[in-house]
This record gives sequence, C-alpha cells and structure tokens, in this order.
Amino acid sequence: MKKPSGTRGTAGSTTPPRPAPRNKSKQGPDWEKIFRSLKAWRKEPQKADAGNQSGAFGPPSVSTVAEVFNQDPWAVLASTIISLRTKDEVTMLSSRALLKKAPGPRQLLALDEKSIAKLIYPAGFYRTKAANLKKIAAILMDKYDGKVPSDMETLLALPGVGRKTANLVLTEAFNKEGLCVDIHVHRISNRNGWVTTKTPEETEMCLRALLPKKYWKPINPLLVLYGQKLCRPVSPYCSRCVIYDQCGKRGVDTSR
Ligand code: SF4
Repeated sequence: MKKPSGTRGTAGSTTPPRPAPRNKSKQGPDWEKIFRSLKAWRKEPQKADAGNQSGAFGPPSVSTVAEVFNQDPWAVLASTIISLRTKDEVTMLSSRALLKKAPGPRQLLALDEKSIAKLIYPAGFYRTKAANLKKIAAILMDKYDGKVPSDMETLLALPGVGRKTANLVLTEAFNKEGLCVDIHVHRISNRNGWVTTKTPEETEMCLRALLPKKYWKPINPLLVLYGQKLCRPVSPYCSRCVIYDQCGKRGVDTSR
C-alpha cells in the first residue's frame, strides 16, 4: 500500500494514501482550526480511535475530580499527584478513596504512610506518592494554615510537585492562567513542528510564547486525549488524524 509522503517507509506500515501534510512553518499554526478540529474529534471518538468503541470520551480524571469536589484545591492537588504515570480510571478510584478518608491535609496527616499508600494503590509509584502527600500535608498545615497555595513558585516548592502539577492546580482549582504540558502535549507539539524541544518544560515555555492564552487551559485535555488515543508514541494513527494537514509529522517513522 502506498504511504503518504512525509512518512518514512517501514515494513508493516498500514497508512492509507493521504496528501502530503502542509508545511505551515512560514504562516505558523492555525490554532483556531486545530482547536476546533480536536474539539469535534473528541465528540466523535468512535470514528477516530480504533481501540475505543464505547462512546464519547469523558474529561480527564483531574478535571472530573475538580468538578466533583467543587474545585477544592486540596482535592485537585492530591488527585494531580496521584495521576502522574497513572491511568485515568485508576486516578479516579484512588482519588475518591483517598479524599473520602482525607478530605483535607489535616485528616491526611492523621494517616500513616502505609494507609495512604493502600488507599491510592494501584496508582503508579504509590509508595512515593503517599510519602509526598504526607509531607505536603505537613507543610500546608505548618506554613499555610491548611490551605493550598495559589502561586506557581510556592507550589513548585512542595515535594513531588513539578510544573505539570502546579499548572493543573492553578487552572483547575484557582481558574488562573496555566499551560499544562505533559508527555503527550510535548510529543504532539514536536511532531507538528510547533516547537523543537527536548523536554515538556521547554515545550511549555515555547508554547506560552506561541499559543494565544485563550487556548491554554482547554487545549491541554484535548491534546492529552489525542496523544493517548490517536497520536500515540509508537505508530500514530495518522490516517485518521483530524489535524493531519497542519502536521509536519516530524520524527514519525511508522504510522497507521
Ligand atoms: S497522528 Fe500525530 S503525527 Fe500523525 S498527522 Fe496527526 S498529529 Fe501528526
């Protein structure tokens, strides 16, 4: 089968022919078009995702937790920490279990690390996360009157809190400006040629300069979902891609 130009040939690629992606480097990305395309795709996932035939995609787990717990900053912070390297379904269950026993840092401090780890199991690195949650709860009680700080610098000083977590807490709990870049957003941004970066942190800084602020919060869950379901790390579904004509497909060796 003929492969689309822009995809290096590999044995076993099943990508059907499509026109070559447009080189947008001179004009810059058409953000509105990209945003609208991703939004429309999310409403019709059965057409786009070969592995999921079960209906519309829900919001990411942390957004759901934020909604269920009325944007409670502790709930958002705890679930964001649980969510790192953890599937959405597990994050939801673990967050609910933890927040039922520890709806705030005061209650969490009363639990020992082993109990916290048991509550959030099988989240990835559950023992490390339990230890960090306990340390964070102690700091919040000691320094911030049991409240989660609402500025980037203070959040970043908490154990186990990186820029991704801090950005999510700022946007989901405090409705502040934040641009959350995880490994999916980082990968898609580089494949598309929006940025040329080595780390999610670098990508965040570049996107902050490139992407109009009105897209910062809403584009994150769209790109995360797109990376999980379609623009996968290995052999993305380029033949089904809704932003194909915007994508440079940089570094894509094999696609479907
Ligand atoms: S699936 Fe990913 S790599 Fe392929 S065209 Fe779409 S955005 Fe580009």
